[in-house]
Amino acid sequence: MRRVIIAGNWKMNGTIVETENLIGALLAGESENDKATVVVCPPFVSLSRASELLNGTHIAWGGQDMSEHVKGAYTGEISAEMLLTVGATYVIVGHSERRQYHAETDDLVNAKAKYALASGLIPIICVGEMLEEREADRTEEVVGTQVMGTLSGFSAADLSKIVIAYEPVWAIGTGKTATPEMAEAVHSFIRKKAAAVDAAAAEEIPILYGGSVKPDNAERLLAQPNIDGALIGGASLKADDFIAIIRAV
Ligand code: PEP
Repeated sequence: MRRVIIAGNWKMNGTIVETENLIGALLAGESENDKATVVVCPPFVSLSRASELLNGTHIAWGGQDMSEHVKGAYTGEISAEMLLTVGATYVIVGHSERRQYHAETDDLVNAKAKYALASGLIPIICVGEMLEEREADRTEEVVGTQVMGTLSGFSAADLSKIVIAYEPVWAIGTGKTATPEMAEAVHSFIRKKAAAVDAAAAEEIPILYGGSVKPDNAERLLAQPNIDGALIGGASLKADDFIAIIRAV
């Protein structure tokens, strides 16, 4: 039985006070759910406060990115160790906004994911095609290359500790969602690609869908056999919506 994960990526939204309010609303509104692991990824500046508020609750927390380097002269970067010191257990790597606006490549995402694993963090590795790639019928080629590139050098033991998020770029923040059938087809394809590394471990990887997941489409997406949860942007900033999505599991 694969783990179901509902993860919120808050992106560059919220001051520390707003983080406190959102976490307060999540804790007040949602009791423990044995069907899903719930994770929130606040901005780095808020992580320390988030850890104080979430410590001992059923909600885990993580970073939105991390450096592939241990430490040193990398202005603006955050290391795995820094995430660990605020109790983070997850880290998103290779989000399409990092790939698009910071030119992150599969090699870099691979290095980040490997270093996250070596540090004891669970990487949520994001992949997904752009609109023009889908329209040119290149989804499998693009996503397949991303999966093989970001998982390069991984062992079966590594695969058993990762999470993959399929996020079609054209569906992120646009209100356009892949239909459950479209998403399921890509999720099943991703699992087959990961099976080239290790078939048994690939079966157990939680593969999350991301891209305009909302309370009204979550249930149908999450009902698909290879959709093991969701990575949520916009709707994770509204406590009621995020809670409704968790309840849809
Ligand atoms: C995301 O950026 O990870 C995301 C899925 O955003 P949204 O839910 O807003 O489309």
